[in-house]
Parts: sequence; C-alpha cells; structure tokens
Amino acid sequence: GKSEQMIEYIKKLRACIKWLLEREDANLAEIGKLNGLIDAADKHHAEIVSQLECKIQESVAMKEELQKQYASLGESLKKVEAEQMECLRSYGDEKEARIAAESSRNELSEELNRVKLEQKRLNDQIKMLQDTNKRLQEYNTSLQQYNCNLQADATKNAETIDKLQKEKNTMVETMNGLKDHSNSVKLQLEMAKSSQSEALKQKNNLLSEVEALRGELHQVRDDRDHKSAEINSLLSDLGVYKELTGKSSSELENVMIRCDALEETCSNQTEKIKTLQIQLASANEKLKRSNLTTMETMSEYESQKRMLEDLQLRLTEAEQKIVDGEKLRKKLHNTILELKGNIRVFCRVRPLLSNESGAVSYPNNGENIGRGVELMHNTQSYSFAFDKVFDHSASQEDVFTEISQLVQSALDGYKVCIFAYGQTGSGKTHTMMGNPEFNDQKGLIPRSLEQIFQTSQCLMSQGWKYKMQASMLEIYNETIRDLLATSRTSIQDGAASKYNIKHDANGNTQVSDLTIVDVRSINEVSSLLKRAAQSRSVGKTQMNEESSRSHCVFTLRIFGVNEGTDQQVQGVLNLIDLAGSERLNKSGATGDRLKETQAINKSLSCLSDVIFSIAKKEEHIPFRNSKLTYLLQVTS
Ligand code: ADP
Ligand code: MG
Repeated sequence: GKSEQMIEYIKKLRACIKWLLEREDANLAEIGKLNGLIDAADKHHAEIVSQLECKIQESVAMKEELQKQYASLGESLKKVEAEQMECLRSYGDEKEARIAAESSRNELSEELNRVKLEQKRLNDQIKMLQDTNKRLQEYNTSLQQYNCNLQADATKNAETIDKLQKEKNTMVETMNGLKDHSNSVKLQLEMAKSSQSEALKQKNNLLSEVEALRGELHQVRDDRDHKSAEINSLLSDLGVYKELTGKSSSELENVMIRCDALEETCSNQTEKIKTLQIQLASANEKLKRSNLTTMETMSEYESQKRMLEDLQLRLTEAEQKIVDGEKLRKKLHNTILELKGNIRVFCRVRPLLSNESGAVSYPNNGENIGRGVELMHNTQSYSFAFDKVFDHSASQEDVFTEISQLVQSALDGYKVCIFAYGQTGSGKTHTMMGNPEFNDQKGLIPRSLEQIFQTSQCLMSQGWKYKMQASMLEIYNETIRDLLATSRTSIQDGAASKYNIKHDANGNTQVSDLTIVDVRSINEVSSLLKRAAQSRSVGKTQMNEESSRSHCVFTLRIFGVNEGTDQQVQGVLNLIDLAGSERLNKSGATGDRLKETQAINKSLSCLSDVIFSIAKKEEHIPFRNSKLTYLLQVTS
C-alpha cells in the first residue's frame, strides 16, 4: 500500500515537475521579455535623467533668479512692512476718527429722525396749504367768473342805459315834433274854425238872400200868373175884339210886347233863381266840408294829445329806468373795485435822465405781462410784480385812466386814498401834481378834480347836487402845516397845538383851524392848486429841500344829495405825495437832522404797518402811531 501510495505520490510529483519545468520556461521567456523591458526602461531612464539634468540646470538657474527675486521681494517686504506699520498707525487714527464719526453719525441720525418728523409735519402742512391753495384758486376762479359776469352785467347795463338814453332822446325829439305838429294843428283848427264861422256867416247871408229871392220869385210868379190870366182874358177879349172889330189890333200888339217883356223878365228871374240855388248848394257843400275838416282836426288833435301823454309817461318811465340803472351801475362798479382788491399797488417807471444808466425790462410773456418789472444789478436780475406796471413811456393820461375808477368811487360816497411812494426824484410829484398849466403834463390831482366836476355835472340831470370842499396840508416832523392858509405868516408860525386831528361820530376827520375851501368850478380849482404850489415853494426856500422830507396831503370831500330819490353820499378823495423813501442814514446825524430823519423813517414805517394790518384784516390797526396815519384813519 505504501509503494502504491509512493507511486501515486511520484506520479503527482512528476506532474508537478512537468508543470514546474513548463513554468520555468514561461518564466524564462518572461525574464527575456522583462530584460527587454528593463533595457527599454533603462533607455527611457537615461533619457529622463538627461532631461532631469537639463531641468535641474534650468531649476538652478531659476533658483538663482528666484533667489534674486526673493532678495528683492525681501526688500519690498521690508518696505511693505514699514508701510504696513504706517498703515496700522493711520488705521488707529482712522479708528479713532471713525468712532468719533460714528458718534456724530448717531447724533445725525437722531437729528435726521427729528428732521424726518419735521418734514412729515411740513409735508402735512404743505398738503394742507396746497388744499387751501387749491380751494383758494377755485374760489379765485369762481370770483373771476363772478367778476366776469358782473362786468358783462355792467356792460349790458351800460348798453341798456345807452339804449334808454337814445330812446329818451328820440322820444324827446318826437315829442318836440309832436308839440310842433300839435301847435300847427291847433293853428289849422283855429283857421278852420274861423273859416267855418265865415262860411256860416256867408251861408246865413246867402240864405237870407235866397229867402228874399224866393219872395221876389213868388211875387214874380204871382205877377206872371196874374199877367198870364190877364193875357188869357186879353186873348179872349182879343178874340172877342177880333171877332167884333179889327180896331183893337194895335192894342193887341202893345199887349203882346208887354207880354214878351214880362216873359223875358220871368225867364231872367228863373235863371237868377237857378244860379242862386247853385250858389246855395255850393255854400252848403262848403259848409259841410268845413264841418268835416273841423271834426277831423278835432279827432287828430285828440289823438295827438293822447300820444303826447303816452310819450310823457314813457319818458318818465325811461328816466326812472335811467336812475335805477345808475344805482345798479354804482353798486356794480364798487363791487368790481372791491373784487379787484381794496388795496392795489401800481409801479410807474420814469424815463432815465441823461446822466443816469440802468437796465429795466418788462416781461413780455407769462402771467406777469403788464404787471412785472425786471432790474439788472451787478449782473444779477431781480424781478418784481405789481397789480400793474406803467413803463417809462406811459403818459399822465394812461396813469389817470387806471385811477379814474377810484375817483368815481369817491363820487359814489367811498373813501379813497392814493399814495405816491418812492425815492426823491423818482417822479412822485410829477405823477400826483405834474404841471397843471399844460394839458399833457397834468397829474392825478388836477385830472381827478376835472373828472369829478364833469361827472357831477352829468349827474345833475338825474337830480344829484354835489358840494365839494378841498384842503391841502403838509406833515413835516410830525407837525401839520396848512398849504391853503391865506396869510403867509400862518404858514410859518405852525404852532404844534394849532392843528388838532379829530374824528367825529360820523366817521369824518377834521383838522382844527385848517383852511377848507368850497370849490364850485374848475377855475376855482386851478387857482387853488396855484396857491398850494406857491405855499410849498415858499416853504422850500425857507427849509432846505423840505418837500422831499414832508408828506403832502390833498383832501377833497364830496357831499352829494339827490332830492328826487332822497339819497345822500359823502365821499373822500385823499391824494398823498409821500416824503422820499430813500433809506436815511441815522449815523452822523445830530440834532434837528436826526429828529427829521427819525420822523420820516417812523412815519413811513407806521404807514406800512397800517397798510399791512388792513391787508391782513387785523382787528387792531395802529392808526395812532403817526400823524399821517391818524389823519387818514377811517372810522366806520
Ligand atoms: P419826486 O417828487 O419823487 O422827488 P419829481 O416828481 O420831482 O420826483 O421828479 C423828478 C424829475 O423827474 C422832475 O424833473 C420830473 O419832471 C421828472 N419826471 C418824473 N417822472 C417823469 C415822467 N414820467 N416823465 C418825464 N419826466 C418825469
Ligand atoms: Mg416831490
């Protein structure tokens, strides 16, 4: 068993050896292959080594370069470090600064919050204001609409008044024509009456004549009948005689002749009767006709009389209408003025004098056309807007046209003030007084007076009677001087206690001892103005250039009564040439000069206070703060 086992085992070992031999062969082959590979790898290795050497050389070169670079970098690093140090230092500073900035930022943000709150509030306010503005604009447009309507009404009324007046004129004309006609008709009637009575008389004559003729005719007929009876008896006698004898033939002839004559007279009488009858008929006809014309004239006269009465009625009606129209016109006129604003500011630019220069221009588009003025000063332009601007080419008449409506208001019983304000030499006196001697240079005062006289004369036909009183005074250093005083000494004495301003219960202002002149005609006015100008010039020579340092107030009081309608009006027109508005320098002024300067500055600022209070409709208006405002105070 053991050998079998060994054989088996040997068999297995042989197989193993065989496998190992095979394996060795394969390994050898593999070794050969691997040797080839190793060779190739060696070759490759050598290549790589050479390459690496090259690379090493390169690297060395690079290293050197890098070292150089490193050195330079080290230097720059040092620099950078230094810089960094500095930066750190500045960073520290900045940090401090930032801390400070942060605190201030906090403060600012707080403030910002506050401002935001404020802004919100303001925005609200703005919104509110915009709302009110819108509402005001709406109100304004509605007012403008109303104004337009009123103006349209006014023009319509003016037209109807015109028409009525024209109608009245034509009526008056036709009435005059009719009066003439009625007179001529009356004359005709009288003539007709007289011709009628004449005709009647003639008729009576004719009738009596006819009567007489009839009697005669009757008699003639009787005669004729008598005669023909006689003839017949004679003819029978003749027959008898003829029969009896031929002796009475001569008698017969005679009788025949008488008979012929009688027949002739008879025919004559008949003709006469006929003509008389014709005459009678024509007289009757004439009488009838004249009766007819009398009737006609009478009826015509009656109708004319009726027409005249009718026309007179219509005339009184038309006159009533004119009076009513005038009343309406007055109301509308003053409503329009109130709508335009009770305080209005106009600007007048005077022409430059030869030695002056300046640039004034007027906007010629936009909403300020006719209302704006632009000034150049040191290359900057300033623009202003007024209710109206009169450029340097505006004439005295142009300015007056704008003012004349206010003058009309004074006639209607309103109290009107017109101030001229500006620097000395800007044209206040020129505008207010001008030169009354020349028609185109007359200022507002003479023109207003002329208009008042003309209009009051026109209104006389409507039953209005006007009385006017003028006074003119100057306020210098809060002292009143009478410019219409007759004796010159009274201008000079000017005792302060003399001219006291008083307001009575009716709202009228009086200045004690002030000369008040009744003016009844234009001529009286011009002599009055001359007198005032003289008093002013007297004052001028005595007190240096005083006219530019005093206020001159011209006052015209207007009392109107209408006996027809029992109406009464009391208007006042004040025209004031103010003292020069140039800023007066207080420094350096002493004594009288200082007092004078203070007086002007004070009275002008009081005037502006009063005007602002009135414009703002304040309850208390500081009239009492200066003589000028106290004088012009309106108490009612
Ligand atoms: P104020 O009274 O303001 O001091 P004036 O009325 O005396 O000024 O005017 C000064 C000068 O300028 C006067 O010689 C006047 O004739 C002249 N002047 C003023 N306004 C005009 C104008 N619109 N047209 C022509 N000349 C004028
Ligand atoms: Mg003057």
